[in-house]
Amino acid sequence: MSALPRPVGVRPDARKSAALARPIAVLAAPEFAVLALDQGSGTASVPVVAVGDPVRLGTLVARPAAPDSVSLHAPVSGRVRAIEQRPLVHGDGLCVVIENDGAERLDTAVRPVGWNGLAGPELLERLHEAGIAGLGGAAFPAGVKLAAARTADVSMLLLNGAECEPWICCDDALMRERAADVVLGAQVMLAASGADSCVVAIEDDKPEAVAAMTTAIDAAGDARITLRALPAVYPLGAERQLIDAVTGREVPHDRLPPAIGVVCQNVGTAAAVARWVRTGWPAIARIVTVTGSGVAEPANVEARIGTTVAQLVAACGGYCGEPLSLIAGGAMTGRALGTDAAPVTKGLACVVAATASDLSPRGPERPCIRCGDCSAACPAYLLPQQLHRAALVDDEAGLARLGLADCIECGCCDYVCPSGIPLVERFRAAKARKLERDIDRLRAEEARGRHERHLRRLAAEAEAERRAFDEARRRARPADPG
Ligand code: SF4
Ligand code: SF4
Repeated sequence: MSALPRPVGVRPDARKSAALARPIAVLAAPEFAVLALDQGSGTASVPVVAVGDPVRLGTLVARPAAPDSVSLHAPVSGRVRAIEQRPLVHGDGLCVVIENDGAERLDTAVRPVGWNGLAGPELLERLHEAGIAGLGGAAFPAGVKLAAARTADVSMLLLNGAECEPWICCDDALMRERAADVVLGAQVMLAASGADSCVVAIEDDKPEAVAAMTTAIDAAGDARITLRALPAVYPLGAERQLIDAVTGREVPHDRLPPAIGVVCQNVGTAAAVARWVRTGWPAIARIVTVTGSGVAEPANVEARIGTTVAQLVAACGGYCGEPLSLIAGGAMTGRALGTDAAPVTKGLACVVAATASDLSPRGPERPCIRCGDCSAACPAYLLPQQLHRAALVDDEAGLARLGLADCIECGCCDYVCPSGIPLVERFRAAKARKLERDIDRLRAEEARGRHERHLRRLAAEAEAERRAFDEARRRARPADPG
C-alpha cells in the first residue's frame, strides 16, 4: 500500500478550453508524408521499401526490428521519394518520405477485419501487423502489450481516458465525438487480451466525455465494460498512478501491470483498433491537440502520420503573437521542439506553440529549504530533494537506492518547488549519465568477452598445432628394429 493518501500529485490550471471549442478537424493528407522509422518509443523499424517504389494507402513500409518497435504503413498512396535523415520530435532520424499522388488508392490488404471469428492469438498477431501503438504518448506496440497480458492471464483491461496534462485534450475530444469507437475498440482488446472486464477511467473534469462514454457503453449493452470517473489530479494519467487509483493496488516497482492482473491502454488506441476492424486501416492517422497562445485557432486535428508540425499549425490558422517555444507533448512532460519540420508520429499527442503568457518563468535557482513539498507531491512516492542531492554529486549508488529509475519525470516536484530548482532536468541528466555508463559497461564486457574468446581460440590453435606436430614426429620416427 502507498504511504501517502491517494491520489498524489498537483493541480495545474487546465488550458484545454480553446482547443475543445471546435470539433475535431480532419486534415487533408500531406503532399509529402515523412515517416520516422523511430516513432520515439523504442527500436527503429526497418524499411521494406526502396526509393522509387510505388505504395498504396496502407502498404507496409517498415517492419518492426524488435518487440518495442512497430510496423509502419503508407499514410498516402504515391511513390517513395527518399529514405533520409530528417528532423524529428526527439532529434534527427531516418525517415521514409512518400510523395502523395492524391489518388488515395488502398492497398489490397486494407479491408475490414472479421475480428469476432478470430482466435485471440491470431487477433493479436493481426493487430500487431496493423502497427497499432499506444497513442497516449508511449507508442509501445499494442499487440505486444496485449499478448503479454494474455500470457499473464490478466483480468482487467483499463482504458486510460484520464488525460491529466494541462494542455492536452485529444482524448477528451475523441471521447466526446467518437465514444462508440472507443467501446468497440475495448471489445476487440478484451477478445485479444483475454481479460474479463474493462474499466474506462476518465477524470471528472471532463463531463461531456463522461456523458458520451456512458451513452456509448449503455448502447453497447456489454456488461463487461464500465466507466469510472476519478478526481482530476496530475499525473493521474500515468499508467501506474492510474492503476493505483482504480484498483487501489500498486504495481511493484520492478514489475509490469500484468503482474497484478491489469493491462492498460489509451482510449485513442481503442479507437484506432475500432477503425482498423471497421475499415482495415492500419495505424496511419491520429488526433493531435494543436494549441498555445501562439496558434491562431487552437484545435484537435486528425492528421495522417507523417504530416509535419508546420502543416498542423497552418491548418489551425498559423502562428500568432510571438511564439517563444514549440513544445511536443504537454507543458508538464513535453520537450522543446527545435523545428516545426518534425513529422507527426504515433506518440505525438500535442503541440504547444507557447508565448510568454503561457510560460511561467522559473525564478533564479535558490538553495533547497527542505520544505518537503516535492516529496508530498511526488506520485511515485520518491524523495526528490534527496534524489537531487545525489544527482548533484552523481552518486550512482545513492540514486539507485533512492529509486531514480521509478521517477516518471512528471514534473510535479518542479511545479511545487519554492526554490525554483530544476529537479526533473537534473533527474533526466542523471538517467542519461547512467544509461551512458551502462552502455560503456556493456561494451567493456563485450570487449572482455571477445578478448577472452580470442585467447581461448589462440590456445586451442596452439594445442592443435602441438598435437599435429607430435603426431607427425611420431609417424616420422623410424620403426623399432626390434
Ligand atoms: S521525482 Fe520524478 S516522479 Fe517524483 S515528482 Fe519529481 S518528476 Fe515526478
Ligand atoms: S520542494 Fe524544493 S526546496 Fe522544498 S524540499 Fe523539495 S527541493 Fe527542497
